[in-house]
Amino acid sequence: MPFQLDDDVKKIRDEAMALAAKCEPFAAEADEMSTMHAATLAELRRSGLSSLMVPKKYGGRFEEIDPLAVCVAREAMMRTSAHLDSVFALQGIGSYAISRAGTEEQKKHWLPKVASAEVLAGLALTEPIAGSDLKGITTVARTEGDEIVINGAKSFISNGGEAAFYTTLVKETDHDEPRYSLVLVPADSKGLTIAPSPEIIAPHVLGELTYDNVRVPTSARLGGSGDGFKHVLATLAVFRISVAGAACGLMQGALEEATRHVRTREQFGRPLLKHGPVSSLLADAWAEYEAARLLTYATAEAARVDAAANLDRSSLAKMFATESASRVADRCVQVMGRWGLVRGSKIEKFYRQARPMRVYEGASEVLRLGIAARLAKEIDSWT
Ligand SMILES: Cc1cc2nc3c(=O)[nH]c(=O)nc-3n(C[C@H](O)[C@H](O)[C@H](O)COP(=O)(O)OP(=O)(O)OC[C@H]3O[C@@H](n4cnc5c(N)ncnc54)[C@H](O)[C@@H]3O)c2cc1C
Repeated sequence: MPFQLDDDVKKIRDEAMALAAKCEPFAAEADEMSTMHAATLAELRRSGLSSLMVPKKYGGRFEEIDPLAVCVAREAMMRTSAHLDSVFALQGIGSYAISRAGTEEQKKHWLPKVASAEVLAGLALTEPIAGSDLKGITTVARTEGDEIVINGAKSFISNGGEAAFYTTLVKETDHDEPRYSLVLVPADSKGLTIAPSPEIIAPHVLGELTYDNVRVPTSARLGGSGDGFKHVLATLAVFRISVAGAACGLMQGALEEATRHVRTREQFGRPLLKHGPVSSLLADAWAEYEAARLLTYATAEAARVDAAANLDRSSLAKMFATESASRVADRCVQVMGRWGLVRGSKIEKFYRQARPMRVYEGASEVLRLGIAARLAKEIDSWT
């Protein structure tokens, strides 16, 4: 592989591969669960890899969260278990706003526990009505003395029912114009109730959150009033590229399954691999995987230098890698014939798991709007 990972990142990749190997024996079981798989979580804790998700000062591995290290870790985990990948990823996605904008007290209280995976994190943006258009949220917050009172509902929240806190996007109504803010809501807050979300094609720990006069101190607001989208974008700037990393892991896993199958299964007197159309499907799949991986690593490297300035590039890599993952998984199913369709098989699992990746953390079509706008801005400066 031409992209050179530095020694720190290689070490993370090796650790993530070792963790994935430990989770392999129960990955099939974990990946069908919509609640937390205890053994998977226990292995994640033991691995210490959640420490990648917070700054060193609060128990993290590196001074700052390293997008490339997170990417390669997710790649190794997703190749084996989507459940493992998701638990790991959410530790960063749910807690990043605390790392960035929390008070010293919040950081000291929560981040070391996130780093050790003693507690799980959640980020609650999506609502029953508002999805891609987050300005349409109706979860409202008003200030009463030194408290914020929250009412509303959030939907399809990863780690819903398992997290210890939900970083919640609210619309503050105390001002003439609505102000969008992020508020740190502990899971045990009075008035917060959580029910399971509908089960999706690739099971995922998801919850529906209802906030009924939930009261938290005004200090639970992360950053200033009205800073919500700033912190959401900052979170995406660091973590969107890691979805591309996970998509690469999925493609690798799917290619491994399909290639081993066609190498040995024979039809018309020779291995499937020797049939032109089968080779074509696999060759195209490999090319897409390699292209996606190079783009992903290069983009994560750019995000290491300046994540915010490279958000559109992260969107580009996320869109390409996740769309590629769906195509690659589909081709791999095809070359495996009926064995590609067996429920519970690895390849069938990858096929289902590729699908939600094109929807969450920015649906491909929504990402394309920002990507094309960036292209139009940049194009004249291309050399
Ligand atoms: C597995 C999973 C985990 C999730 N975890 C979380 C979580 O932890 N926290 C959280 O807050 N949310 C989470 N979500 C929700 C996720 O963020 C939303 O599904 C996503 O933002 C898309 O919103 P939507 O599903 O309401 O689709 P909609 O907004 O209804 O969009 C539907 C489709 O319309 C198209 N579309 C929409 N707007 C445009 C546009 N402007 N231009 C072109 N096309 C457009 C896209 O194709 C899109 O897929 C999760 C979802 C899944 C599936």
